[in-house]
Amino acid sequence: IKKIGVFTSGGDSPGMNAAIRAVVRTCAYLKVECVGIYRGYEGMMEGDFKVMDARSVNNIINKGGTILKSARCLPFRTKEGRQIAYDQLKKAGIDAFVVIGGDGSFTGALTFNKEFDFPVIGIPGTIDNDIFGTTYTLGFDTALNTAVECIDKIRDTASSHNRLFFVEVMGRDVGHIALNAGVGAGAEEILIPEENLGLERLLESLKRSKQSGKSSSIVVVAEGDKTGKNVFELKEYVEEHLPIYDVRVSVLGHMQRGGAPSCFDRVLASRMGVKAVEALLEGKTNLMVGIQDNTITLTPISKAIKGHTKIDKELMRVSDIMTT
Ligand code: ATP
Repeated sequence: IKKIGVFTSGGDSPGMNAAIRAVVRTCAYLKVECVGIYRGYEGMMEGDFKVMDARSVNNIINKGGTILKSARCLPFRTKEGRQIAYDQLKKAGIDAFVVIGGDGSFTGALTFNKEFDFPVIGIPGTIDNDIFGTTYTLGFDTALNTAVECIDKIRDTASSHNRLFFVEVMGRDVGHIALNAGVGAGAEEILIPEENLGLERLLESLKRSKQSGKSSSIVVVAEGDKTGKNVFELKEYVEEHLPIYDVRVSVLGHMQRGGAPSCFDRVLASRMGVKAVEALLEGKTNLMVGIQDNTITLTPISKAIKGHTKIDKELMRVSDIMTT
């Protein structure tokens, strides 16, 4: 392998830049050429490439977003689209790539490998922490810290007015952000997609919380929680069934995806980037770099895209105890 392409794909996450930097610098260290591919598979199909040396990634380790931009690309899902992308890579002399993204981006990479026997390695970049084969995905830790910081601020105003706040955090299919940010910010209840707490229990818990003399209540709600109600509907429901509360809603939204990556994510990205390039040069392919028991690991992409990391039941128990 003489020339490695690197790109970011799907939803962006803090730490992607640190991973790009790590891939580029490892290539420079091991004297392999490195090419940045802009806008994921879209830029790949258009030949939107830029040769990158160690100096082209100066001062990006601390930046959120991705300097290579990201995109969702429908044509890459077709055989014809992937053929165009392959032709562009060949023309530029790129003979392997590192994809930084989520399960969709990995599925694309796997299909691409099968069709063209093209070496690919994945780095999990998504704030949801929903990829099997790694305890942490890039951006999760930063997103958590952002969410906790925001909930702390909401708590200040909630307690000044004895209010109840429903705070929506990201997580359509998994509740890792909600559970961890909820415990970290001392939420009274946490609603996640993995478990249906039930509206009755929510009302009971809020009633108890008020009776026990708490001056404010925060309920953290993952986007995909199983009550069947979004945060605005939950507000109405509680106002109707438990009129002792002054209820407000806050949707944290995209701010969870932005901002400077935490030190944890920067270090993780650096370690993953090194491993990704080393794996390619050792002739490996179709693997995702992960971290398990503080060791950098490689998991078949086919496994990584199949399962979600399970929600931490012990942390759910801790959360229950903390809301006493
Ligand atoms: P996120 O965490 O934001 O969901 P993701 O990588 O899963 O990240 P997707 O939008 O699902 O994001 O996928 C990114 C891109 O990967 C798609 O726009 C498409 O180009 C490519 N892709 C996704 N699924 C496939 C597939 N089944 N076959 C080929 N390419 C795919």
